[in-house]
Amino acid sequence: MKCLICHSEDIEVSSVYEEFERADDVIRVFLTVSVCANCGERYYDRRTVRKLEQIRRQLDNGSLPLKEVGKVYVGRV
Ligand SMILES: [Zn+2]
Repeated sequence: MKCLICHSEDIEVSSVYEEFERADDVIRVFLTVSVCANCGERYYDRRTVRKLEQIRRQLDNGSLPLKEVGKVYVGRV
């Protein structure tokens, strides 16, 4: 497989996260996708696209199991 952006053949399967926002919360969902090691372009197969759609639905109806791992602090200057 060749990268459509930079034409590199250096495509690796890599663990990345997608970030979703709901109100003041940020949800990171980790997934494995193909990533161009040269330019960073991500390639999502059909199964992953369907999974992301499912995750969005689960976030909207509150059925996605989530674990709190940190806090976000907001500073005003
Ligand atoms: Zn590339």
